[in-house]
Amino acid sequence: MPDLSGPLPPGATIGILGSGQLGRMAALAAARLGYRCHVYGPEADAPANQVSAAATVAPYDDVAALTRFAESVDVVTFEFENIPLATVEVLEKLAPLRPGAAVLSICQHRLREKEFCNGVSVPTTAYRAAADVESLQRAVEAVGRPCILKSAELGYDGKGQVRIDHETDLEAAWAAMRGHAAEATGIVEAIVPFRIEISVIVARSADGSLRTYVPVENRHRDHVLDETIVPANLPADLTDRAEATARHLAKEMGLVGLLAVEMFVTHDDKVLVNELAPRPHNSGHWTLDACITSQFEQFIRAVAGLPLGSTERLCDAVMKNLLGDEADDWLKILAEPGSKLHLYGKAAPPRPGRKMGHVTRLIRR
Ligand code: AMP
Repeated sequence: MPDLSGPLPPGATIGILGSGQLGRMAALAAARLGYRCHVYGPEADAPANQVSAAATVAPYDDVAALTRFAESVDVVTFEFENIPLATVEVLEKLAPLRPGAAVLSICQHRLREKEFCNGVSVPTTAYRAAADVESLQRAVEAVGRPCILKSAELGYDGKGQVRIDHETDLEAAWAAMRGHAAEATGIVEAIVPFRIEISVIVARSADGSLRTYVPVENRHRDHVLDETIVPANLPADLTDRAEATARHLAKEMGLVGLLAVEMFVTHDDKVLVNELAPRPHNSGHWTLDACITSQFEQFIRAVAGLPLGSTERLCDAVMKNLLGDEADDWLKILAEPGSKLHLYGKAAPPRPGRKMGHVTRLIRR
């Protein structure tokens, strides 16, 4: 398996699997550091294609296109984790892959993710696996109602999730979950009566250096991130614990790249991991405007073998996602002093709830 021995020189090409807004903002950060990006994804004129030196528009199982892509880049990374493992297995033989397939395998499957966390002594919500309606019944009995049934794979932004209340019919719940899932594995999770939801983004370089961004509070609407409040209003010991958890997970997983760790803080001050994402994360968009090094630059630095940058926060901030037609307010937002507008180049008219852009409102003390 090829690996990088030192820092990638300016002018080198970074290959990014996935061509959405995360790839777009990563490609822009890479360009500032003198790199070229080649993005790979199934959609033409996708957000990342518009700002990259090269784009391959092909499905993730097109071995010939994947091979040509891998041969044209110096390192491969990804901007979302729902990439078939078979795809990265093809790529890994031809180009260095950062983070590696083992990290991807953990983070794209909710059961493996929770087993991994618990295996390195990081607490999560109580859970049970379910493979069919019968095992779902046993899982719900063990966890207790109310609980949540989630597809183990391919779920995001609340897709593939069904709340199981006292009166919920389990056959119907199973069918609703299966509607979103490619395979039949489910996970039943206890509902956490959390005080706040937070996330920490950590970067780890090939030499094992670690840098974290401050914990932030995430507020959701209809299961989609609506606002990120920076910093999260937490006492110092919880801030330290959340950051230490993220660093520990990154180290134990052998990460080279970026990891977003979503956590619940409970009323009795437990910090439980909900979900891991081995890539830039929506809750880190504020770093573009309020930190010395943005999460996107940090991601590129880690992937390219450069020293990590300072994660110092220059000011507090609130990041608001512009979902669906909220992006129609772009002119109004541009007129606000202290606001930074980011639009992703997605074609209008937007689907309701689609992430069209975001605005970061800087709070200067
Ligand atoms: P997820 O896709 O797992 O990040 O879930 C989306 C959102 O649903 C989370 O950000 C929470 O607001 C909520 N949620 C998910 N799982 C749980 C849980 N076990 N207990 C309470 N709320 C949850």
